[in-house]
Amino acid sequence: MEQMRPSRAPKELRDIILEFSTERKCSRYAITIRWPGGKYTCARCLGRDVWKLKSRDLVECRTCGKQTTITAGTSLHQSHVSLQQWIFSAYLMTHHQALSQADFKRIVGISSDMTLWRMKSIVRTVMAAPNEVVFTARYASREAAFRDVLRKLLSPN
Ligand SMILES: [Zn+2]
Repeated sequence: MEQMRPSRAPKELRDIILEFSTERKCSRYAITIRWPGGKYTCARCLGRDVWKLKSRDLVECRTCGKQTTITAGTSLHQSHVSLQQWIFSAYLMTHHQALSQADFKRIVGISSDMTLWRMKSIVRTVMAAPNEVVFTARYASREAAFRDVLRKLLSPN
């Protein structure tokens, strides 16, 4: 029955929503970008076992207890906005560039114009392009542009 009622939603949007459906999934994605091979490596003891702590952004070495912020040294360091909101913002900026400011805030779940302005400014800075249209045009697909924005946002500067 499912196949007889094709959804009008783009498949890739459903995929993105599922892939980043929880803050935990977003953190795991960030870890795969942040540490080579997606394996956290402790800067103190080179241990590769990690506890994900309650705090959205903090991982702790199971061996020596050293705590590391996933976003330390990245453009998202000390951001009060969730990783999921950053990721969805990057998605919208590479896929839905004509979106109004009001719709953008509603979809991402941000109430402040200033917060959104700052977020877009940070994303445009890592894009190193005058705007997201120019940036996205450099890639073979919007998906590729989106993934590269995430890589730039989540990698240490
Ligand atoms: Zn350690």
